[in-house]
Amino acid sequence: MNKHVFTDLEKEINRIGHLNRRDFMKLAAIVGLTFSSAQESKAASNARGKIVIIGGGAAGLSMAVRLKKRLKNPDITLIDPSDRQFYQPGFTLIASGVYEPNDVWKKQEDCVPSGIKWLKDSVAAVDPVWNQVSTVNNGKIPYDFLVLTPGLVLNWDKVEGFSYDRLGQGNAHCIYDFEGAQKTWKALQEFAKTGGHGVYTDTYTKHKCGGAPKKICLLTEHYARKQGTRDRLDLDYFTAEKALYDVPYYTPRLLEIYNERNVPIHLNTRLKGIDLERKQAHFEQIETRGDEKVVTPIVEDYDFLHFTPPMSAPRFVSEAGLSWTEGKLAADGWVMVDQETLIHKKYPNIVSLGDVAGIPTSKTSAAVRKQVPIAVDNLISIMEGKEPTKRYDGYAACPIVTDYGHVLLCEFNYAKEPETSFPFTLLDTSRELWPAWLLKVYVLKPLYFYGMLKGLA
Ligand SMILES: Cc1cc2nc3c(=O)[nH]c(=O)nc-3n(C[C@H](O)[C@H](O)[C@H](O)COP(=O)(O)OP(=O)(O)OC[C@H]3O[C@@H](n4cnc5c(N)ncnc54)[C@H](O)[C@@H]3O)c2cc1C
Repeated sequence: MNKHVFTDLEKEINRIGHLNRRDFMKLAAIVGLTFSSAQESKAASNARGKIVIIGGGAAGLSMAVRLKKRLKNPDITLIDPSDRQFYQPGFTLIASGVYEPNDVWKKQEDCVPSGIKWLKDSVAAVDPVWNQVSTVNNGKIPYDFLVLTPGLVLNWDKVEGFSYDRLGQGNAHCIYDFEGAQKTWKALQEFAKTGGHGVYTDTYTKHKCGGAPKKICLLTEHYARKQGTRDRLDLDYFTAEKALYDVPYYTPRLLEIYNERNVPIHLNTRLKGIDLERKQAHFEQIETRGDEKVVTPIVEDYDFLHFTPPMSAPRFVSEAGLSWTEGKLAADGWVMVDQETLIHKKYPNIVSLGDVAGIPTSKTSAAVRKQVPIAVDNLISIMEGKEPTKRYDGYAACPIVTDYGHVLLCEFNYAKEPETSFPFTLLDTSRELWPAWLLKVYVLKPLYFYGMLKGLA
């Protein structure tokens, strides 16, 4: 195992808090098992062809490093404009004061694997018929095989009365953004002091880490309790969905937690707009009565708002004709891939995974970690002129932080059945756990930077 993992762990333990010997041993076991369970060696392939990867985040970089290892003659170009590689799951922990902002990012130049050509540019268009992508500054780049991993877009403007430059104004916050997470932490501390009405929302589109809005709500509640000011706060959680959570194994306990913490849940209610001056959140409650859809407008005064913007695939994806054209995944342009092979349904030289992929699972880096080895094997099979045979079962994980010290470790597949990873199979994961908090706070970040992005986990 990489020595950086332990250096990083040591740093976090020293900074966040001392662990007793028993907890440290637990932590070491989790790290060791997580890394060792992912090790596998595969024969190198003679397949040739120019591979272009669009987007070097969790999925793109993991694909790059593994493809490079597996191909004897790799010819891989990665296109990504970003200077920094963010460990986005850490944004929740910034917003709750557990991590410092500088804990969650590294320079992109230190993350791009050697031997990969990195074009620091943005893709503006893809022509899947002529096998080329158009970049903003470097013209057209041809490819034989395309890895489509640009993540997703946060559509701030789709919230009426809001735009990205207004993030934080009117005490309206969002942890889906690096700066936004930092502003949230400041505002959350202030809110716990002054008290008032806290309003929390998700959104009506598919969004990355569906647990994030729930986590920040529960963390605010616990933070205020720790400060002794909980009685000053009224908290409400609004979800656009018909249920708080859609994986039945975990839902009962999550509902219980909201109930125990006295945070009412409002179903089928989507955020439409925000009046930042008046501090009012405008919702639409959508109910079906018989054949009729009834829309009821609701206005909530708030003192602190955490909201989630609608999300979609980047526009160039649908403009290239790469998106689903019918079904639930069509509206927001998600890529039309086979949900098991991750190969594009119309263009077999394109593989897509991560947040942009149009597959019915949760958009998380935990899902990416399981998708990558499948996508690599299947792409290599296609490069070798064979059928793709590896199958992804929809595995995703969402560690819902329920308080400072506990996490409901939700792991599941397409069938919405729990799919718990070892060593957590030994525990009752239908309830929030302290070892899962250790995993979330200490293990997953080094696992990301030194495991996943290095092709080792
Ligand atoms: C607040 C928050 C909490 C989260 N919590 C969790 C969690 O607890 N557990 C978990 O597993 N996951 C969590 N996630 C989700 C996780 O971070 C994402 O699912 C994961 O990063 C998706 O990987 P990706 O490679 O598809 O996209 P990203 O990692 O977002 O990478 C996309 C890359 O594409 C690049 N790009 C974009 N457009 C273009 C273009 N036009 N041309 C070239 N490059 C482009 C970007 O610069 C970026 O580098 C969380 C995310 C957030 C924001």
